Order: sequence, then C-alpha cells, then structure tokens
Amino acid sequence: MEDAFPTSEDWYVCPLCLDGLTIEEFETKQLTVEDVPPKALGGKPLVLTCQKCNNDQGSKFDGEAAKQQRLGRFLAGQSAKPETAVLTLNGICSQAEITVNGTAGMLFTFPKEINDPAAVERMVEHMRMLAETQSTDFAFTVEPRLRYSPDRARVSWIRTAYLAAFALFGWKYILHPKLQPIREQLANPSAVTLPLLGMDIPDISSGRHEVWVVKAPAEHQSLLVIWGGHGVFLPLPNDPRTLEELARSLGARTDGPVHFSISGTMFSWPSRPEHLLDPDPLSGSPS
Ligand SMILES: [Zn+2]
Repeated sequence: MEDAFPTSEDWYVCPLCLDGLTIEEFETKQLTVEDVPPKALGGKPLVLTCQKCNNDQGSKFDGEAAKQQRLGRFLAGQSAKPETAVLTLNGICSQAEITVNGTAGMLFTFPKEINDPAAVERMVEHMRMLAETQSTDFAFTVEPRLRYSPDRARVSWIRTAYLAAFALFGWKYILHPKLQPIREQLANPSAVTLPLLGMDIPDISSGRHEVWVVKAPAEHQSLLVIWGGHGVFLPLPNDPRTLEELARSLGARTDGPVHFSISGTMFSWPSRPEHLLDPDPLSGSPS
C-alpha cells in the first residue's frame, strides 16, 4: 500500500473525513487499509482510511449491504447456508431453518431449541393434511429473521463507488464540492438523506467490475461505478446538476432492476491507488 502515500509529505488525509494523519499512525493502526468494496462483498484492499471511518462506517453501512447480499443470495437459491425464518401456515406459527435449493425448492427443519414442540407438531400435521388432501386452501408466509436497512445498504454501495473513484482519479475528483454531501452522509448514519444514486443492473454479469465516464445518453452523463449487478452514478465535476437532480434524471428506483444502455470511456477497477487526475508529486503534472 506504499503507493497510497503522498511521496513528498509525511502525512496522509483520510479521504472519507478529511482528517490528517501522520504516516506513523499506520504503525499504530489509526490509519487502516480499506477493502473496496467490503471484503464480505468480494472486495480487496485498495485505499487507506482512518480507523474511525473504517470501523464506524463499516458497521453502520457495509454490514447492512453484506446482509442484503446474503438474503438476496438465499432467496435466489444461490446460498447453501440455511436462514432462520418465521413460518406461518393458516395461523400456525413456528421457526424454521430453511435451505433454498434452486431446482429442488425449499427444505424446512424445525430446530427444537427455538420452537415449542407442540407448535411444530401442529405445523407438520397441518402440512401433512394439506399434502394428503391436495388442498390449495392455505395461507403460508415465510419471514426471514435476518433484517437489514435497505437505505444504509445503498449508502454502502455509494461509499464503495466514492472510494473506487478516489483510487482511480484521486483528490482532484473527490474534493470537488459536489462530493461533500456523500461525506456528510457517511459521517451521519442516523438518517439517510442521499438521493437514489445506485441501482441494480441485471444485464451486467457478476464478474464485471469497472468505472465508466458516461457520455451518452445526456441524462446519464456521470461517473458510473459498477461492481457486478450494482451500479452507482456519481456526478462529474462539470455537471451543473445537484445530486438530487442527477438522481431524478437517472430515474433511479428501488422497486426493481433498471435496463439502460450507455456509451463513454471505460476504466478497469483499480487494483491500487492510481489518482489519475492528481499532479505527480515529483513532476507536478498529472501522473
Ligand atoms: Zn476518516
């Protein structure tokens, strides 16, 4: 990670809170290596941030995105791990561990430790009766125990996009006033106020990790950061729109995937800080 340090200075500024740290603070772990996206979402070490931003924002935002992904994979039958859920069948309630298998359906087990044996007995008896009579007269709900905040999960993806853009383009990009609301949101997790800048892009394979400077269509002109099926649009510095106006013209929504086509310039996901727009500290020109 030595590449991440400014070579002509002995201090470093956290790109998330803009607090200054000395390089010695890397030794005392007040300056930390951050995975982008978080490791639970498949990310690798990419940039340096302060321990406070790494820990606080990791637990408040990234933890929610990890839970969202875990639940999404479970419901899509892509996870072999069971999840606990409350099952309600015609008013009979019990807790089950459920494994979803893409082709074979759902497998329920009713662990003794978390259930009243009599309720399980009633549930199983009722299921048997429905199967024998081939009755379709039943109300069945499955409510997973795992809960997450969709708002904080989407902010986590904006955080990932911001840090990837920082690694790729550097200080000159993130210090633009348009990016300040993102830092303010990250410092204030209690209320999510950022507009919808991210969306699910179902046409993109999970292996695609890239950053686009979108040129067309005009309403999508932005920096589009793609990690698998997640896309986040960040403003370009010369964009006259506010973040809210950008979100409105993107037509971002949370009720389903969005299909669109774009053209522009594509950059591979950075594997180290490249800071393409920043002056090279040795020559004074952009590196
Ligand atoms: Zn920080």
